[in-house]
Amino acid sequence: METHNFSIEFYPPKTPEGADKLRIARGKLAALNPKYFSVTFGAGGSTQQGTLDTVLEIIGEGHAAAPHLSCVGGSREQIRAILGQFQSHGIRRLVALRGDLPSGYGGGSELRYASDLVEFIRAETGDWFHIEVAGYPEMHPQARSPQDDLQNFARKVRAGANAAITQYFYNADAYFQFIDQTRALGIDVPIVPGIMPITNYSQLMRFSDMCGAEIPRWIRLKLASFGDDSASIKAFGADVVTSLCERLLKGGAPGLHFYSMNQAAATSTVWQRLAG
Ligand code: FAD
Repeated sequence: METHNFSIEFYPPKTPEGADKLRIARGKLAALNPKYFSVTFGAGGSTQQGTLDTVLEIIGEGHAAAPHLSCVGGSREQIRAILGQFQSHGIRRLVALRGDLPSGYGGGSELRYASDLVEFIRAETGDWFHIEVAGYPEMHPQARSPQDDLQNFARKVRAGANAAITQYFYNADAYFQFIDQTRALGIDVPIVPGIMPITNYSQLMRFSDMCGAEIPRWIRLKLASFGDDSASIKAFGADVVTSLCERLLKGGAPGLHFYSMNQAAATSTVWQRLAG
């Protein structure tokens, strides 16, 4: 199994217990030898220190790590300071996002879209960072139309992104169509599919409602039918996600980015089945 673009995402733990659990999960996931781990960034800078601490801990353990950085709710000055901090620690890779502000948060954003952030990072730091941006095969929920969203995606790549990671999806055709359409626009950076392992029905439904990812009806009905039978949900989830990954890799996807939710088991199961 080629693992050239296999990455795993964490969120910064909020408590010392969460940090301990993440260390254990990370130890197991590191054995899969991903190219890098990435660590999310709370919009408005809410996890700024936690993101950096987690990234530095991973680097200290001898693995590559990329912080995410979102621009919503932040000023140019704040983002400049964060970029300087990343550079001073020798961090060379990041994931650049607009982010989503929690409702009721009134903070103004000097950089409005991810394309503005990418442009700013390039203007401030030149080629120092390898920049990943987000792509939406099933369209970003706030976009006016799929065509508009595609043009906006192209804009942020042209602003200087090296590669992209997609929102998760369970419909491989949406990814392949997205790839065809971006290639038709002359965008040729690697676009790595984001993979959300399935372990918990209600959590998956909640996240998918928020981010606009579609859960196909047959998957939804099957998961619902298992009720509280967590073992059946996980077994079915592993089958569905492994088949999806197989199809994506066979169809030319340049790698896989796993949303691990700070848990090792589901990502490890899928990866081992792909490798086996
Ligand atoms: P953008 O690319 O700016 O797009 C946002 C919306 O604006 C889209 O609808 C787009 O079509 C539209 N748009 C873009 N440019 C323009 C323009 N010039 N004019 C008009 N409309 C425009 N969130 C976090 O808070 N922290 C994280 O760490 C994080 N990590 C993520 C990692 C990945 C791989 C993915 C896929 C998402 C992540 N998110 C994270 C969620 C992300 O912040 C949200 O999906 C957010 O709503 C959009 O961010 P973006 O960078 O894609 O925004």
